[in-house]
Amino acid sequence: MSEPLIKQIPVRSILSKSNLPVCEYSVNPYVGCTHGCRYCYASFMKRFTGHTEPWGTFLDVKLWPVIRRPERYAGKELFIGSVTDPYLPQEEQYGRTRELLTQLRGSGAKLSIATKSALILRDLDLIKSFPDARVSWSINTLDEEFRRDMDHAASIQERLAAMEEFHRAGIRTTCFISPIFPGITDAEAIIRRAKEHCNLIWLENLNLRGSYKTVILDYIRERHPQLVPLYQDIYGRGNRAYWEALDTRLRAFTAELGLDYVTNDDSMNRPFEAPPVVVNYFYHEQIKKSAKKCTQ
Ligand code: SF4
Repeated sequence: MSEPLIKQIPVRSILSKSNLPVCEYSVNPYVGCTHGCRYCYASFMKRFTGHTEPWGTFLDVKLWPVIRRPERYAGKELFIGSVTDPYLPQEEQYGRTRELLTQLRGSGAKLSIATKSALILRDLDLIKSFPDARVSWSINTLDEEFRRDMDHAASIQERLAAMEEFHRAGIRTTCFISPIFPGITDAEAIIRRAKEHCNLIWLENLNLRGSYKTVILDYIRERHPQLVPLYQDIYGRGNRAYWEALDTRLRAFTAELGLDYVTNDDSMNRPFEAPPVVVNYFYHEQIKKSAKKCTQ
C-alpha cells in the first residue's frame, strides 16, 4: 500500500455531542482511516470533509485546543473511534489519541474505545486509570488471508493478544464479530478462541449498502465464486433465512458453552469475572436502535 496523504488540521473541539442514545460524546482524533476496510461504512465521511481521494489513502490529524475543565465529563460516556481507528499506525508518530487521554485523565469520563490495532497496548496504563473503560476489537475471521483481503489493520493474532492483555489487566473487553460474512466468517471458532479474554461478544451481520456493495459483491465473485448464489439470495432478494438459521445455531452453540445469548447488552452490571455475554445485533434496524458502537 502506498503512503497515505497526511495533513494536520486545526479543529475547534475534539468532543462532539452524540445523538446516539448510549454514548454522550463521540471522539475521533483523525479524519479518515488508513485501515481502509473494504466494507467500511464510515467512508461516507468523505462527503463532509472535502476529500476526493479513495477511502483509506488520506488522513487528517486533528489539532484541538486543550480540553478545558475535563471534570465536566465525569460519568459521561465517551466513544472513541466511531469513524476512524484511534490506534492507526500513524498514531505512533502523531500521538493524538494519547494526547486526548492525557487531557482527560482524572476527569472520571467513561471511555469506550473501538480498534483493530495492537498499538493500544502502549496506552494500557492510561486507559486503566479511567473508570469502567471498555475496549473492543473487531474480529470477523481467524483466517489471516481473508483479513488481509479486507483491511490493512493489525493481524488477528495481534488483536487477540492485545485483547488478552487488556482483559488480564482488568479492563473490560469486547470481541466484536463484525461484519459477519455469510459462508466465510466462522463465528463459532471466533467465540471459542476469544471467550476467555472478553466480557462481551457482539455479533453483527454484513450489511451491504452504498458504494461498498459493489466492491464486496465483486470480491465474492472473484475470490469465492461458490458463494455467489448465497449472496444474491441475501443481498439481491433480501432473504433473511441465512441470518435466522445462524441465529438459531449460535443460540444453541453458546448455550452449550454456558454463555448467555441476548439482544440487549447489560454486561456492565455483571461481575468482571463472569463469562462473556453474547449479544446478537443482527439486522440493521436493531443495530441502529441500539447504536452502541462503531460498525468496524
Ligand atoms: S471500518 Fe473502522 S477500522 Fe475499518 S476503515 Fe472504517 S473506520 Fe477504519
